Amino acid sequence: MEILNRDSKYVWHPFTPLKGAPELIPLKSARGALLHTMDDRIIIDAVSSWWVNIHGHSHPAIAEAMYQQALTMEHVIFAGFTHEPAVKLAESVIGLLPEGQAKAFYSDDGSTSVEVGLKMAIQYWNNQGTPKKKVIAIDGAYHGDTFGAMAVGERGVFNEVFHPFLFDVDYVPFPTEANWEEVLQKFEQMVSDPEAGVFIFEPLVQGASGMRMYDSIKLNQLMRMARDHGLVLIADEVMTGFGRTGTWFATHQTEEKADIYCLSKGLTGGTLALGMTTCNQKIVEVFDSSDTSKTFFHGHSFTANPVACAAANASFELLTHPDCRKNLDRIILHHEGFRKELVDHPKVRTVRQCGTIIAMEIDTSGETSYFNKSRNQIYDFFIQRGVLLRPLGNVVYILPPYVITDEELEKVYEAIREFLVKF
Ligand SMILES: *Cc1c(COP(=O)(O)O)cnc(C)c1O
Repeated sequence: MEILNRDSKYVWHPFTPLKGAPELIPLKSARGALLHTMDDRIIIDAVSSWWVNIHGHSHPAIAEAMYQQALTMEHVIFAGFTHEPAVKLAESVIGLLPEGQAKAFYSDDGSTSVEVGLKMAIQYWNNQGTPKKKVIAIDGAYHGDTFGAMAVGERGVFNEVFHPFLFDVDYVPFPTEANWEEVLQKFEQMVSDPEAGVFIFEPLVQGASGMRMYDSIKLNQLMRMARDHGLVLIADEVMTGFGRTGTWFATHQTEEKADIYCLSKGLTGGTLALGMTTCNQKIVEVFDSSDTSKTFFHGHSFTANPVACAAANASFELLTHPDCRKNLDRIILHHEGFRKELVDHPKVRTVRQCGTIIAMEIDTSGETSYFNKSRNQIYDFFIQRGVLLRPLGNVVYILPPYVITDEELEKVYEAIREFLVKF
């Protein structure tokens, strides 16, 4: 196809080797949970286009809101000025977050929302004249691809080249039933260090490391220990936010709440890039000064872009409409059925679910295992059946837009059933 030649000449795609990657699929349009290809195939978007899309593609209400805002005021510098879409969105999101959040700071995406959270937390200590250097994170974490976000993420092959440029972080093992006592002991040691100032975590589900899940009781205990030692708690809800885990935010399932929240992905319903970092009064207080040495000197050209905020406001309305709750409950129920079906499957090592996310670890011990072949072939297997799934290692997961229909969801399950027979 002509577009593929033009693409390969000038365009560089994310997380994609320049040679040997599966052929790109040119798309014509997308609507609801469906992607329409240029060669007239239909593909179900079972991963919400990298976890961002919650109300389906090309939603008319969000499109209309963006259009109207673009005609009214497309963008304006956010230092020295303000506007209704940004103020309204801050009110709405803070109203939906766990109690106690006081202010919202805008940025561009998930990674920048994490950068802002980390910088706020570090400056929180500096502004009080007691700088602390140590950040604690969890093994396997993914917080984004900018330098600060990489620094607090899992150190692996994806970011190996940059390791010499990343600041030191203490990693606590990912909590499981088997290692829980060890985790508590290590975490107690880490938070007791007088240099420890920040604890950052993906609540309940670590996305990129393979949809790894840990329960709210364990998370709550870690949060409480960090809190008892005065650390700043940063919940990275970039993926888990806006209904994904069944509650509005994952930390609605813990008693302890974070001081700082990082949000993006579902914020605009997956239509435009936008990041938001919120914080509570404890953080605000130490910045609440006219002394410029205490000012938070951070900002982006497109901070609080009005069109992105208008998209987010429209998405928020859809999210809090009773129909959305019904969709969430419907998906959760269907997933539960599928999970029960797979529990004893000989080729499934474990299957786990958190809200609208279901993930299965495939047993790759057999010689014929598909996972002994290339990841590209697995991806292709699903694409050929009209389903977009992007396995993470040997983990196949579904993370659908909330508007996915029962038939579409069943088609995704069916593709996985077939995969488990054939691989
Ligand atoms: C995707 C993700 C990020 C990074 O967001 P981008 O918008 O891709 O920069 C950060 N944290 C978590 C938990 C994520 O899933």
